[in-house]
Amino acid sequence: MTFRYRALFVGCSLLFVLGFVSLGQAQEGAKLYITPSKKEMEVKGRLLGKIKGPPNVVLILADDLGYADTGVYGSNSIPTPHIDALAKRGVRFTDAYVTAGTCSPSRAGLLSGRYQQRFGFEFNTAGAAITHRESRGLDPAVITFPEVLQHTGYATGMFGKWHLGTRSHFHPNTRGFDEFFGFLAGAHGYFPVKKEERVYSTVMRNKTHLKEPEYLTDAFARETVRFIHKNKDKPFFAYVPFNAVHTPIEASKKYLDRFLDVKNPQQKTYNAMVSALDDAVGAIVAALKETQTEKNTLVIFMNDNGGPVYTRVQSNAPLRLGKLFLFEGGIRVPMIMSWPGVLEAGSIYRQPVSSLDIYPTLCAAAGVVLPPGLKLDGVNLFPHLNGEIKTAPHEALFWSNGPNTAVRLGQWKMVQAHDHVWLFDLENDIGETKNLALAKPEILKTLQAKLKQWQGQMKPPAWPSKPNRRKVKVDGAIYELNI
Ligand code: CA
Repeated sequence: MTFRYRALFVGCSLLFVLGFVSLGQAQEGAKLYITPSKKEMEVKGRLLGKIKGPPNVVLILADDLGYADTGVYGSNSIPTPHIDALAKRGVRFTDAYVTAGTCSPSRAGLLSGRYQQRFGFEFNTAGAAITHRESRGLDPAVITFPEVLQHTGYATGMFGKWHLGTRSHFHPNTRGFDEFFGFLAGAHGYFPVKKEERVYSTVMRNKTHLKEPEYLTDAFARETVRFIHKNKDKPFFAYVPFNAVHTPIEASKKYLDRFLDVKNPQQKTYNAMVSALDDAVGAIVAALKETQTEKNTLVIFMNDNGGPVYTRVQSNAPLRLGKLFLFEGGIRVPMIMSWPGVLEAGSIYRQPVSSLDIYPTLCAAAGVVLPPGLKLDGVNLFPHLNGEIKTAPHEALFWSNGPNTAVRLGQWKMVQAHDHVWLFDLENDIGETKNLALAKPEILKTLQAKLKQWQGQMKPPAWPSKPNRRKVKVDGAIYELNI
């Protein structure tokens, strides 16, 4: 069986297993490993560089990290040598976007490769008890890329925060992960818990609750390192969604001691949390070196949404506002991809890309040809990164959050909140300071038409946003913060 044919077969049999089509040969699917033929390797070699086989993949996701809170994205106050080194070995994206300004829908877009509004996931699953409702989570009918990779023979593990439903039918073990170590809800403290926690809040290994003694960021790094060592001889995929640096703002002495000169205790603790996150990235990269898997591992680092304004410690400079908003500070995030020998070291990619692109990009790296019935909103970034395709990966990108919407089309960005509309020229005004809505009516009309067309394809929210929504004023207009 040729590589491409085999990959197609694997993709189709995945659909069979999930009950979409019947091919009658699915029992073989789970055992298959993708081994490219010589010819296929030559083709891929021209495309991507020297590839020896399907790469391992490590996808590291930060939580609520400020756009400018790493050295490579402009921080002068928080040293992040490991994240910076990752960028030196790979591609740094200046205009990477997530599909929402909040944790939960952003993760739904990332793992599904589709605008989450296509299946009604517009708002967070909400906090604690409401989240634990039976219907609040990533629709089980949606095929995630961890499921695809698992089915094509990858060892798959997740270490961190889930936030895509807490009931058993949403559990990571049922959504593509052989192993899960982390917690299911939207936030968690970083130190050992003293009181008894609710089912959906505790740290667990697969479905067993436990009491984690270590600082949680260290614990997630430790588990990822263990997973890499355990699976070094086969293709593996590690999804590492740290809850760092989401609230509560908590850090251990080891990291606090690095910022003795910072007077504001909240700022000092936040800086220490970022430093712990950076150490965790360093530990994961070191494990790849120790296991000699580094050269055949694609490492991606990104963030789930912008740093919040309300904590007063993140910096999204030079972007406007932050988490919960559809201005750039809420949705534009750091993103780095490293794959030695394949992606050009120290390069920068400036066209807009999306977290939606992770799904098809990883599947392309793994050699999986996705079945035509699987409609994704993301695109494979490799032909864009190697210069084979010069145009931008997306004609336009869209966001929707209750009464707030946004579109990016080339250099133009429109934000709407209720009846108020802003139009920005991001090429000349990255900070979204000058509203050109009145000055450029034709451009505004084009963006509004694109948005309307996109909205026509989306479903209404499957559940409402959190009640008692906070309202703030932006340029005199009311902006409702829908979570
Ligand atoms: Ca977040």
